[in-house]
Amino acid sequence: MTNIISGKILSENKRNELKEKIAETKKIYNREPHLVVILVGDNPASVSYVRGKEKASLEVGIKNTTIIKDENITEEELLNLIDELNNDASVDGILVQLPLPRHINEAKVIKRIDVSKDVDGFHPLNVAALFSKQECIYPCTPKGIIEMLDSIHAEIEGKLACVIGRSNIVGLPIYKLLLDRNATVITAHSKTKDLAKITSQADILIVAIGKAKFVTANMVKEGAIVIDVGVNRNEETGKLCGDVDFDNVKDKVSFISKVPGGVGPMTITCLMENTFECYLKRINK
Ligand code: NAP
Repeated sequence: MTNIISGKILSENKRNELKEKIAETKKIYNREPHLVVILVGDNPASVSYVRGKEKASLEVGIKNTTIIKDENITEEELLNLIDELNNDASVDGILVQLPLPRHINEAKVIKRIDVSKDVDGFHPLNVAALFSKQECIYPCTPKGIIEMLDSIHAEIEGKLACVIGRSNIVGLPIYKLLLDRNATVITAHSKTKDLAKITSQADILIVAIGKAKFVTANMVKEGAIVIDVGVNRNEETGKLCGDVDFDNVKDKVSFISKVPGGVGPMTITCLMENTFECYLKRINK
């Protein structure tokens, strides 16, 4: 029987726990964690992600400030804004919603964020720390995926895991986190040959491509655990869907996550946890 890994339910439980912790800490330190989100332009997907972060912040008791900037903002103006927030002692976390307009160098912007306020875990020093097994802020989506696997007590050690996708924000860090849990990990990407032959051997399959219903039943191993990271718009229905052909894959696997209601809510919950972590480190300094 297939079991659904519900990121939505897991998130609700985790947010309730976090809400209590934040309330307790606020009593002691007399202020709540403060997350600042910078949104450049009005890309509908970005606007919706930013709204989700505002809603989650409100739920758990994090102060959220969203700064909206016109898409014509210069790179220098954006960097100056980040400097201001870096120097603002009342700010614990800074998140720049990606993607940025083409005239702005994303890497330069991410690097400018004070690493102690890098709640996304994208700063090169955080990435270096992750890859050298040092204390760091884990990027939210991979962190959420590991928590989803842990929620079902998935055996990771010694298992064959395949990650489809090698982006900085999902594919590469989840590869490393699975490796740290002693899985044997294969990374697949657009140049991988015989993809189905590889994926169909994987005990754990993480899919982060961005192509609707790309992974079909013949590409998965019987009884595998499948985590679908993709967020796509189904052209026929207009509804959100993942990278996995859920309806056809679900009966073949032991556990599978859904889109929506899977990795998405967990990513935002992990962002809340990261903000709390940065806040705790700052007030304990
Ligand atoms: P990305 O940077 O575009 O990376 C996509 C990856 O998929 C690349 O590594 C690419 O390979 C690979 N790929 C593309 N076509 C392929 C094919 N035919 N066969 C095998 N691999 C292929 O995307 P991303 O930022 O990692 O995001 C992936 C998806 O996850 C998107 O739908 C995104 O919206 C979603 N996402 C969701 C969350 C969430 O919280 N739910 C968070 C982040 C991302 P190459 O490297 O060779 O180009």
